[in-house]
Amino acid sequence: MNFKPAKKDLIKIILTYFCIFVILEILFYSFVNYQKSNIIKSYLNDYTKNITKQIIQSQNDLNAYARLVFENNINNQEIIDIIAKASNSKDNEELSLLRAKLYNKLLPTYKTLTSNDISQLHFHLPDTTSFLRFHDPSKYGDKLKKIRETLNFVNKNQISISAFEVGRILNAFRNVFPLYKNNKLIGTVEISSSFDQIKKNYLKVYKTSLNFILKETIIENKTFDELKKFYNKSEYKSYLNDTQLTNIDNMQLSLKEIKAIDITLSNDVESRLEENLAFSVLIERNKYSQIVTYIPLNNIDGKIFAYIIHYSFNEFLNKIKSNYYVSLSIFSLINISLFVLIIMSYKQKIKLIQAKKISQIDALTSIYNRLGIDRRIEEELERHKRYKDNTTIIFFDIDYFKKVNDTYGHQIGDQILIILSQLVLKFLRKIDILGRWGGEEFIIILPNTNLEKASAVAEKLRITIEKYNFLEIGTLTCSFGVTSLLSNDNYDSVIKRVDSLLYKAKKTGRNKVISSK
Ligand code: GH3
Ligand code: MG
Ligand code: MG
Repeated sequence: MNFKPAKKDLIKIILTYFCIFVILEILFYSFVNYQKSNIIKSYLNDYTKNITKQIIQSQNDLNAYARLVFENNINNQEIIDIIAKASNSKDNEELSLLRAKLYNKLLPTYKTLTSNDISQLHFHLPDTTSFLRFHDPSKYGDKLKKIRETLNFVNKNQISISAFEVGRILNAFRNVFPLYKNNKLIGTVEISSSFDQIKKNYLKVYKTSLNFILKETIIENKTFDELKKFYNKSEYKSYLNDTQLTNIDNMQLSLKEIKAIDITLSNDVESRLEENLAFSVLIERNKYSQIVTYIPLNNIDGKIFAYIIHYSFNEFLNKIKSNYYVSLSIFSLINISLFVLIIMSYKQKIKLIQAKKISQIDALTSIYNRLGIDRRIEEELERHKRYKDNTTIIFFDIDYFKKVNDTYGHQIGDQILIILSQLVLKFLRKIDILGRWGGEEFIIILPNTNLEKASAVAEKLRITIEKYNFLEIGTLTCSFGVTSLLSNDNYDSVIKRVDSLLYKAKKTGRNKVISSK
């Protein structure tokens, strides 16, 4: 007897579909994640380009202004004459007089420059000797050849240049212009802005935050020793902060917040800082997406000097993130619904199968009922016709059962029917089929068993029952009819034959087995 428990089927199906569900979730999750990271990547690339453009633009604005001042206020005969004289003089006294004259002449221009975010106006002689620093007039006479590539470039090529360069006193975005008298280079002038000024200019237009880090080795080599104390270690390895850059007007983030971001990112971006390419990274802080952009500043020989770091909050990426969660949730919801639907429909199916099975089960003894046993006999007949295998049917009936009922009551009678069924089930093989034909009559189908073997089984069973102690009623006996399926048998013929054999057993004394083909 083999009743497959429906629960087992259901668990199997649930597990299968659960696996499919999980695989689908993983696939979709990876796909959406891949899409998301692609979108973010290309967005960050575009973003980097834009920010670089904006920063260059704000430098260009200052460069254009510097050129305007050079053309209108500096590149004139009076100034040229002073510088020409200075470039030819070895007399310190004369040089001091010329310096003072130049200073007085251009002081109003310098004041205008400083009020427009340009802090340096610096004259040099052709051998790169510093002649006059308007931002520090007491420091002059030092040769800049070894530390100022921009100066060397202008002296060599005799054209102006705009570039970022670390100085002995200030780090600046420098514009260096050549000065000529009679087509001869007589000196150079530099008009420069500090990073703070570029930043101020930039933040007037864009409400974000900027930071500036300088390569440690450059400061080591170029800055006046007494000014090195103004630099301290930044959060980025081998880069320094310039503590003189303190302007935080219009900054979206505080210096403390910037520091916190730098600490978070420093390890991740360390190797990228060596690549000399602008890049952006995405960082999640306090539920906000923030983009941090690193823009390298190169010396004229192409080496990295410094990085401008740009910090901004970003709405677009927040949207992408929420879209990402929405699509994931929708997919999961559909997936879960599908999963539940499939399981429910299977549950329904299993219920039907179960109901069908139940309709073939005897309510009292839990073995096949008449309907069930009829089906099994028909199946066996069908199989026998096809494979010609040996199948035997045993029909047995409890002897004098009426007496049991009469003596002990119907309830005890019922108990006896249950106990007997269990006893016979235990006695049979797994492939054998037991059913209750009706009342106290039972049928056993023995597949792959010839008549001889089946008779022996019936005989053994008869003895087993006879010896068994049935509660208060003690022992009871059964009578057996045994027959094999024949090639021309149908349902009626086989039942009729086995019934008549049982009848014969009853008639000839009961508690016996009568078998025949
Ligand atoms: P025999 O040896 O000739 O078979 O005698 P018997 O008394 O067993 O046969 P009979 O056909 O005269 O009586 C069958 C009895 O089985 C009648 C009925 O009380 C009892 N019976 C049939 N079905 C059930 C049942 O479901 N529960 C109980 N308790 N008794 C049942
Ligand atoms: Mg009977
Ligand atoms: Mg009977």
